[in-house]
Amino acid sequence: MSETSAQARTGSRASRLPAISFEFFPPKTEEMERSLWEVINRLAPLSPNFVSVTYGAGGSTRERTHSTITRILGETSLTPAAHLTCVDATRASVDEVVDRYHEVGVRHIVALRGDPSSGIGATYAAHPEGYQSSADLVAAIRRRHPDIEVTVSAYPEKHPESRDFDADIDGLKAKVDAGATRAITQFFFDNDLYFRYLDRVRAAGITIPIVPGILPVQNFKQARSFAQRAGASLPDWLAAKFDGLDDDAETRKLVAATVAAGQVQKLAKHGVENFHFYTMNRADLVFAISHLLGLRPNGARKAA
Ligand code: FAD
Repeated sequence: MSETSAQARTGSRASRLPAISFEFFPPKTEEMERSLWEVINRLAPLSPNFVSVTYGAGGSTRERTHSTITRILGETSLTPAAHLTCVDATRASVDEVVDRYHEVGVRHIVALRGDPSSGIGATYAAHPEGYQSSADLVAAIRRRHPDIEVTVSAYPEKHPESRDFDADIDGLKAKVDAGATRAITQFFFDNDLYFRYLDRVRAAGITIPIVPGILPVQNFKQARSFAQRAGASLPDWLAAKFDGLDDDAETRKLVAATVAAGQVQKLAKHGVENFHFYTMNRADLVFAISHLLGLRPNGARKAA
C-alpha cells in the first residue's frame, strides 16, 4: 500500500507528527487519585489534543467521572472529554449529566450506548424512558448543546452484537448522521484489521476521522481478558512475545513498549495522524511511545 493511498483512505493531511489523546478511568480511592494525577502531570506536557475520562459500567462512576473532569478543567490546560453512556438511564438523568458538563465548561463528550448491566453478552435492552441507542444519544447531546463536540466508538473487528460488518457500519453511519465528528476504535493489535475496516467505512461514505485506539499491554493476562470481553482478537504472535514473562515485569515493560511503538509507527508510516491511547492510568509506556512518535514535552516536536 502506498503512503499516499493510505492517507487518502484515512482522510488525513500530509504531516509527519501525529496528534494524540489519552484515556483515563476515574480513580476509586485517594491513593489511586494521587497516582492518576502523577500520570496526568507526566503526560500533560506532551500537549495531547484532549484527554478523556471513562464512565463506569451503567453510570457507576457518574460522580467520580464528573469530579475528575472538573479537576482537569480547573487545574490543567488540558481539554477534557467526558465519556457518557445511556444504558439503564432515563433521558432526563442523561440530560442532567450533559447539562452539568456543559455548565462547568466541558465541550467534548464521548457518547456510548454502554453494556447491559447484567453483563457483556446479555441481550441489550434500552431503558423504556431512555435513549434507545448511541445514535439517539448523540443526536440528543447535539440538539441540547450544539457547541459540544461528540466522539463515538468504532469497532475494527465489528461490535460483538453486530449481525455483520454491514450492520456495524450502518450503526456508525447513524451516529455520524446524528452529529458525531470523530470515532475512536476499540483496541486492536493487527493493523490490517484497522485498514480493512477503514476501507469499509470510507466505502460507506463516512469521512470522519477514525482514530485508532491503542492499548499498550501493561499486563498480558489483563489484556487477554479485555480482548475476550471486547470481542477483539489477540494474535498468537503477541502471546508468544509475552510468553514466559509472567514474573518478569521489567522485561514485560520493554516488550510492551516495543510492540506498541512498532504498531503506532507502522500506522503512522501509512498515513495515520491521530492516536488515542488507553493509558490504564499509567504514564511510562505511553510517554515512551509518544516520544518514539516524535512528540516532545511542551510542544517541542521532532520528526519521527
Ligand atoms: P454502539 O454504537 O451502541 O454499537 C456498535 C454496533 O453494535 C452498532 O453499530 C450495531 O451494529 C451493534 N449494536 C449495538 N446495539 C445493538 C443491539 N441492541 N442489537 C444488535 N446490534 C447492536 N463503556 C462504558 O461503560 N463506559 C465507557 O466510558 C466506555 N468507553 C468506551 C470508549 C471507546 C472508544 C469504546 C470503543 C468503547 C467504550 N465503552 C465504554 C464500551 C461500550 O460501551 C460497549 O462496547 C457497548 O457494548 C457498545 O456501546 P457503543 O456506543 O460503543 O456501541
